Amino acid sequence: MDLPVELPLKEILPGILMFTLPVDYGIDHVNIYLIRDGEGWCLFDTGADCEAARALWLRALAGPLVGGLTRIIVSHHHPDHLGLAAWLAQSTGAKILMRPEEREVARATRMLDETSRRQGIDFMLRHGLSLGEAEEIVSGVLHENLGCDEPPPGSSLENGQRLQIGDFGFDVLVLGGHSIAQICLYEPALKLLLTGDQLLERITPNVGVWPYGETHPLPRYIDSLRAIAGLPIEHVLPAHHHAYHAGEARAHGLVAHHQRALRRFKEGLREGMSAVELGEASYGKQSEALHRFLAMGETLAHLLWLESDGHVRSSEDAGVLRWAPIQRSDQPTVQI
Ligand SMILES: [Zn+2]
Repeated sequence: MDLPVELPLKEILPGILMFTLPVDYGIDHVNIYLIRDGEGWCLFDTGADCEAARALWLRALAGPLVGGLTRIIVSHHHPDHLGLAAWLAQSTGAKILMRPEEREVARATRMLDETSRRQGIDFMLRHGLSLGEAEEIVSGVLHENLGCDEPPPGSSLENGQRLQIGDFGFDVLVLGGHSIAQICLYEPALKLLLTGDQLLERITPNVGVWPYGETHPLPRYIDSLRAIAGLPIEHVLPAHHHAYHAGEARAHGLVAHHQRALRRFKEGLREGMSAVELGEASYGKQSEALHRFLAMGETLAHLLWLESDGHVRSSEDAGVLRWAPIQRSDQPTVQI
């Protein structure tokens, strides 16, 4: 199809479009996808809620997407994926398809009541952030930046379900680790995978422990990479940067990345460090609150793996969880 050059819409394959929208925090863009669905389009992810993205959406809906949106699949609750779901559902009448766990975590991220604010602050104090940092993250990062308007009720998708969208038959994959229940879509005839953030080429998707959601995410993330590596893949359509082909190699590469990270955290751990202190020793002191929060969660996810494998132990000291290496005579290597 002919697409207007001034819109960041690109036809990846006949009937499948990539729409690249600006994001006004953290990363500067996100790719969302449109799949031809009869006269209209089924949308996979929505973009972040910012003026520039809304303006592009209005032009696209008045132009090449004039058939409208039939359904909106939200891969997971992060704001560059969920951010415009409420607005688009309201303005187009499209039905929302989203996992209930992701709705729940999206709500928790907004820190709407005093109990969840208190729990969020306690969680961050327990892992070594100061009270000022914890309050800045709860009110600023979580409530202001990462929170999204709640989309209207819709339905869910199940792992293993076959989802017919126009002429395409997608297998639904529900994968953990980056988020509690991220939806990816696999089209076996095309060997095509819509990954959301689960498998990115240039970025290592964040895997962390937060005041809400998964409590031990790294094993589920590694399992998901192995499941993806077992699929024949010729087209990877990710949420960030370009579409690419080497899905299996990238999945193996991310497993190796986490193996290296586990070794690095184990070697860097000194008796009595909190997750925040080990994160700062590994990543350096982060100047932005968002990055301090991400470093804490990512370090904690790896420490929990090392603990479950008997490499480190933890104990509480005046309300802060502190970690220590376990000296073992057999010195087993860290193995995923
Ligand atoms: Zn994400």
